[in-house]
Amino acid sequence: MGLLYLGTPLTWDETKPYADHVRTHGITQFLHIWDRLKDRHGDELLWGDEVEYMVAAFDDQDKNAKLSLRQTEILAKLQAITDDIADTRGDSQSVPTFHPEYGRFMLESTPGAPYTGEIRDLLSVESDMRHRRALARKHLKDNEIPFTMTSYPRLGAPGVFTEPHYDPEDAESSHSFFLPEEITNPHARFPTLTANIRRRRGAKVAINLPLFIDSRTPRPFVDPTIPWQRTLYPEDPEAKQGAALIDHIYMDAMGFGMGCSCLQLTFQACNINEARRLYDALIPIAPLMLALTAASPLWRGYIANVDCRWDVISGCVDDRTEEERGLKPLKEGRFKIPKSRYDSVSLYISEYWMNRPKDYNDIDAPHDPAIFDRLREHGVDELLSRHIAHLFIRDPLVIFSETIHQDDTVSTDHFENIQSTNWQTLRFKPPPAGSSIGWRVEFRPMEVQLTDFENAAFACFIVLLSRAILHFNLNLYIPISKVDENMARAQTRDAVRAQRFYFRKEVFPSASSAPSSCASSTPGSPISEHGNPIVVNGVNGKEKKLRNCFPLPPMPDDAVIAKTVADEYEEMTMEEIMNGKTGTTFPGLLNLVYMYLDTLDIEPAALARIEDYLDLVRRRTDGRLQTAASWIREFVRSHPKYEFDSVVSKEVNHDLMVAIDEIERGLRDAPDLLPANHRAKSPKV
Ligand code: GLU
Ligand code: MG
Repeated sequence: MGLLYLGTPLTWDETKPYADHVRTHGITQFLHIWDRLKDRHGDELLWGDEVEYMVAAFDDQDKNAKLSLRQTEILAKLQAITDDIADTRGDSQSVPTFHPEYGRFMLESTPGAPYTGEIRDLLSVESDMRHRRALARKHLKDNEIPFTMTSYPRLGAPGVFTEPHYDPEDAESSHSFFLPEEITNPHARFPTLTANIRRRRGAKVAINLPLFIDSRTPRPFVDPTIPWQRTLYPEDPEAKQGAALIDHIYMDAMGFGMGCSCLQLTFQACNINEARRLYDALIPIAPLMLALTAASPLWRGYIANVDCRWDVISGCVDDRTEEERGLKPLKEGRFKIPKSRYDSVSLYISEYWMNRPKDYNDIDAPHDPAIFDRLREHGVDELLSRHIAHLFIRDPLVIFSETIHQDDTVSTDHFENIQSTNWQTLRFKPPPAGSSIGWRVEFRPMEVQLTDFENAAFACFIVLLSRAILHFNLNLYIPISKVDENMARAQTRDAVRAQRFYFRKEVFPSASSAPSSCASSTPGSPISEHGNPIVVNGVNGKEKKLRNCFPLPPMPDDAVIAKTVADEYEEMTMEEIMNGKTGTTFPGLLNLVYMYLDTLDIEPAALARIEDYLDLVRRRTDGRLQTAASWIREFVRSHPKYEFDSVVSKEVNHDLMVAIDEIERGLRDAPDLLPANHRAKSPKV
């Protein structure tokens, strides 16, 4: 998460006067990249994943599974080990890397080198993830385990939830009721971010998740674990003045959200236009994947009535003032800002004909007019100028005194300062300074899954879907307001089965471009089994690998253009979106992936493995398998010690984490969560 400089961070009062300096130079830096690289073309598909972990320390005698705060030592050790492997092998490329994250109990890993478009790379993801986990596991203490759990159930709950234990009354940066200072990565960036978000906002962050009301939950639920009367920090009265809602789980610190783990994917595109096209196409996919990967129903020792982390992180870095949130009249020259810095995308950015920005960019997405004008005058097109000028309404939150003055021709630090603290569902990433990397797109909504098999499955699905979108030149646009409505629905309990989602009815650009196999397809059955030859966009014959550089054909004469935008989409079930809708030409996203696979020359054994991954996604879609969130909720509710009062006790949490670890190692069956034939195989390190 963001860049780590070594240096002296400025306080909020010292930072404010430099806000315009950072923005102005950030834009200058962007314009240098633009001038140098806007026409860069021909980059191959390279992609990568990021997996975030939390390290738990087990105390079997006390029946407690706590968060281990040894991040610094663990990372130092892993660094030494991986350096050592690289030296021995003489090949630093294949050695994974471990990175710090916000929580002092967290690790993040990435593959040593990006994956290419080779099918064997697609199939190496799972073993690479397993290798990383095994490396981490091997170099932890005997009682420590790395988990890919999205939210730790008892973060901030009463009692001891970290190893070692710290008193939550010492919370210098966050002023939280619940989380001690030591929960946060000690690198200056993280406590400074935490404190400066609080100072900019003028209050503690306030997150209220609806409580899952069980048969013996006291009503109304006024949380007895909130120290309502505390008077230690100036913000302490906020809770009783209305920040903490009844019948909700109240959280008041950045650590609750940024202490969550996710699975992210980054794609290098062929050129800037393909990156913009892919960015747009994945925007409506984001809420669907959030719902399908939902994995976080437990918070601060309670069961929530939501399944995802999204609103918690969004709220935990919400640095907007009351004015910006529309609670007080705006002063001259200030913006009302509808969303937190961590939120869903607000603007489509592609200039391709399918994008109808006047119709689809239909929500309030304020931008800085001076920055917009400057970008336009420099020759940046309107949509990209708006995107950048929208990101740049934010203030820099962390500035180091040593890096205030930069050479804008070679540095991108000021640009990245703003860019990397806009945490949206998708991130459009210009090439970094001084590297060979091209224009990239990062897909960020997914919750991390409990096992590497699942993480690999979702990664493969998105990689293949991204290729299917480009190959078939799919049109997935719906208005951003509908994507946002889908984001809200995606987080609710059991959204995959209980909700409908807005989705586009006609995804092929024209009636004649729909592959012939579509109309005859039976929803739910892979079209590849029909074996129909598919000829789209003049691409015929089998490709040997996943590629970049799909030509963007002009708008066809028979383009599908509905009378009104409202005619273009409808509410569908997740099953219809993924498996196709009977009686329509929409084959469903999974079948589109199968149709794309049909265009590739894949060995049967490799295809069978890909199908295992797609099968997991399909079973999650149609409810034959549960999401991690449903499985976790059910585990707690069927635990003999659960009292049907919405509380996740220390002991229940311990047993849940033991179970998850056993599932991950293949020692315990979870037939409702994973396919029967799946068994984890931990590789030797
Ligand atoms: N951990 C954050 C999440 O769950 C993402 C942080 C990052 O951008 O790496 O979304
Ligand atoms: Mg991260």
